Amino acid sequence: MKHIFVTGGVVSSLGKGLTSAAIGMILERRGLKVSMQKLDPYINVDPGTMSPYQHGEVYVLDDGSETDLDLGHYERYTTARLNRCSNYTTGKIYSEVIARERRGDYLGSTVQVIPHITDAIKDAIRNGVAPGADVAITEIGGTVGDIESLPFIEAIRQFALELPASEVMFVHLTLLPYLRASGEMKTKPTQQSVGKLREIGIQPDVLICRTEQAMTDDMARKISLFCNVRRDAVIEERDVEFSIYEVPTMLVKAGLDHIIARRLGLPPDGETDLGDWNRMIEDLRRTSESCEIAVVGKYTQLHDAYKSIYESLAHAGIANGCKVKIRKVRAEDYAEQGAALIEGCNALLIPGGFGERGVEGKIKAIQHARENQLPFFGICLGMQCATIEFARNVLGLAGANTEELDPRSPHPVIHLMADQANVHEKGGTMRLGACDCNLVPGTLAQRLYKASAIRERHRHRFEYNNAYRARFEAAGLVTSGTNPQRDLVEIVELRNHPFFIGVQFHPEFKSKPLRPHPVFDGFVAAALAHARGTTKTGKAKRSRA
Ligand code: GLN
Repeated sequence: MKHIFVTGGVVSSLGKGLTSAAIGMILERRGLKVSMQKLDPYINVDPGTMSPYQHGEVYVLDDGSETDLDLGHYERYTTARLNRCSNYTTGKIYSEVIARERRGDYLGSTVQVIPHITDAIKDAIRNGVAPGADVAITEIGGTVGDIESLPFIEAIRQFALELPASEVMFVHLTLLPYLRASGEMKTKPTQQSVGKLREIGIQPDVLICRTEQAMTDDMARKISLFCNVRRDAVIEERDVEFSIYEVPTMLVKAGLDHIIARRLGLPPDGETDLGDWNRMIEDLRRTSESCEIAVVGKYTQLHDAYKSIYESLAHAGIANGCKVKIRKVRAEDYAEQGAALIEGCNALLIPGGFGERGVEGKIKAIQHARENQLPFFGICLGMQCATIEFARNVLGLAGANTEELDPRSPHPVIHLMADQANVHEKGGTMRLGACDCNLVPGTLAQRLYKASAIRERHRHRFEYNNAYRARFEAAGLVTSGTNPQRDLVEIVELRNHPFFIGVQFHPEFKSKPLRPHPVFDGFVAAALAHARGTTKTGKAKRSRA
């Protein structure tokens, strides 16, 4: 059992999560079993209560944990099984230590950062190791030198001290900034961030240098000398030109696989098999077809807010042999400017969300998709908006709404789940994680999944109101998936439409590059068919007229 710790220096957003996931993937492709974990230095107990503006998307696991979006990279790139022990924050560590102190477990001692907090962090690292794993990869969020990350960096130093040197290694991600004015790349920030690590007592074994331009051999030698890292372990990770899927390939080309294998004494010392992965990238590079999908949402300015959705669309593009262009449209803008904003798009996706802002725009966009045979996919709040739109504009139920936005609506077609009525705390109290869903034979959902029962991940408090179900069904908004334990409606779809489906769950958390999610797959296929049809019939021109 070996450990790899991944830290980051100079700036945040270096793609540490992606790089950690790529390392996991590389090791799996060498026949090893990996486990993946992220330690986040912020004080929130989990990111569930944070705004997407602060933190990007909240990634939900099967067991209902609300976690950092880097865990999405781990699941997409590796087969590691993640659970509540796969993501710890300062808040979670401190809550555990303080609860122990209140129970009297510390028997009169003064509770301190060292050793009590660092011990709790080391326990967390051990808890995160999946049974049978050969290598456990633990990524430390934040940047070395931050006040919050100190206890974590100190804890991994102690962790390494307690094990034989051949069982633990440190990978440090850093930035080589390019100064346009002087036309050169600078190594000083890297030297300083490694200095910070060495101050605590950690000597990195590998430096992965994020760069815009090629790192020259001279520069690598200089970094090697000043940072005390062997030349071959100073690795360039250039900004990818084409797709983030190139990162594992790039790291293998740079020899990272052999460096890790040698450093940790990992058998076998053969080649890393990325054959199917590289073929996938080549196929994607060669595709000439494309379709464009409008994502009308609240946080469209921020790529990370709907990260897994964008990824899932890309995976489905790979499966359909087409490039998927995404047009990000602010729902509030749609409310004002209407369908002109999505003109020329081949499909509409409405993501999940909370709160009032933008909802009327989403509903208006769905009406356009429904009336114009534009492929539509609604996720969570997107499904709820589709239900509201149908209630108002097809069933004629004026004022139909979700109780979340209008508690006094005459037609609460989406209402609070019964078990949520007495919930007052916000953190970790929604309907969370994987739940069963039975699919109705003969529906689009059942055709897409090619199964009669599925499990998908949830994160919501409100649900479809069964009191309106008969009326919806009679008018053509069919229920195609229900939760067998609680008879909750999980999927709705339109009968007379090329592709119109809304799901209460989050399918985007279960899609992988080489195994796209069936609903995304079908959705992109429908968008592609629309794109082909549009060019053939000149429909795009007509709609502009
Ligand atoms: N706000 C809605 C609810 O709580 C939808 C949640 C979501 O889209 N994740 O039910």
